[in-house]
Amino acid sequence: MEEHIKIIYPTYVNEFKCVGGNCEDNCCNSWNIHIDKITFKQYENVQDKKFHKLLNKNIFIKDKCKNDNIDYGQIKLKNGKNCPFLSKNKYCVIQSKLGKEYLSNVCANYPRVVNKVNDYYEMSLDVSCIEVARIILLKEEGIEFEEGEKALGKYTLSMKIDTNDKMFDYTNFKYIKEIREISINIIKNRNYELSERLYMLGSFLEITRKELCYNYNEVIEFVNTYNIKSFSGEFKRDKTNYMLQVSFYKKMLDKLNVFENCNSNLSKFNIIKVILGNNCNSNYFISSIEKVISGFRFNEHKSLMENSELYLNAYDICEENIFGKYSYIFENYLVNHMFKELFPFSESDVIFDSYIMMLVRFSYIRFYLVGQYLYNGEISKENIIRSIQSLTKEIEHDETYLKDILKFLKENELDNKRFARILL
Ligand code: SF4
Repeated sequence: MEEHIKIIYPTYVNEFKCVGGNCEDNCCNSWNIHIDKITFKQYENVQDKKFHKLLNKNIFIKDKCKNDNIDYGQIKLKNGKNCPFLSKNKYCVIQSKLGKEYLSNVCANYPRVVNKVNDYYEMSLDVSCIEVARIILLKEEGIEFEEGEKALGKYTLSMKIDTNDKMFDYTNFKYIKEIREISINIIKNRNYELSERLYMLGSFLEITRKELCYNYNEVIEFVNTYNIKSFSGEFKRDKTNYMLQVSFYKKMLDKLNVFENCNSNLSKFNIIKVILGNNCNSNYFISSIEKVISGFRFNEHKSLMENSELYLNAYDICEENIFGKYSYIFENYLVNHMFKELFPFSESDVIFDSYIMMLVRFSYIRFYLVGQYLYNGEISKENIIRSIQSLTKEIEHDETYLKDILKFLKENELDNKRFARILL
């Protein structure tokens, strides 16, 4: 019998069901699929001779394994991108032939994310799965949480922290639960426009950082008595920031040599592969990025200022018709990210790093949508969901892409409140 454990989870978790072969964006393609040691040994001991042969010729032990419970071995992808255990109908033959207990931890887990904070497990879902994206992002009423007892089945722990452990005394991690809870409440507070909430979150985190540095023992009191109204009214949108955002994201692409390759004989498909280190495989994402590049007219090699009127108009229209009208979609994206990634310690113990990188993601999504709007002249709710899902799938699952962006911000001294304001 499976063990029931204490768990906190967003209520949407109960709604998810993988649609398997009917999925329009199957997750068994293009990613490195890891196998934990126990499952790897199960594969070596399968009795059915024919299936034993099929299994073992398509798996290998990794040279460098980070964790036996996750990446002891790996599946050899067909043509470097397709899982060899996917049937013609896109069903997993390991699961159908041997049962779900033969799935590796990674396969059994996705798209679930399991963390453990003190005595509680925390389960959430990853919006890189299209079915999850629809469930989470389309919740007009927002994301709610509940706690209870559940059987987890096979899972891998992404992060584990026990704030009562002495090793966390006098570290920033000690107050992770309290700081994350207030941060999520700020983002869910619909009395304010979403960009304003993000701005207020920055102000809250800035003071929290100072409290952690100079007034460590009073942090809990500060967090518990925090009043969102003390920061309201400070945020005013500066439209010139739109130009700086476009310039920043264009630079992110330039930095990855995408435009150099535009001038070469590479096809557009290869150009997109260069952006994301050859790991990209989503046709939807490839065609969307092509639209973004064309929409912003980056391929015309003009200065950004020559197109400034076009960009400012597009951002203005999208502000009202996309970001304002569907602000709950973006709120849900942020709340899910914060819960799942143990915000504001998602990047490191430097809380401002997590804040600025969340804004980079948020603003990247806006840039991606504005570019598509410029190309198409419209954008539907379904396009918004699919865009967030496909962008998340490509950038979050690339081992270095976001780390490189944070490195770039630090090297150029952009990891500060001034730049955060530009991204809003
Ligand atoms: S992307 Fe989601 S719905 Fe599609 S096959 Fe994977 S887990 Fe199932």
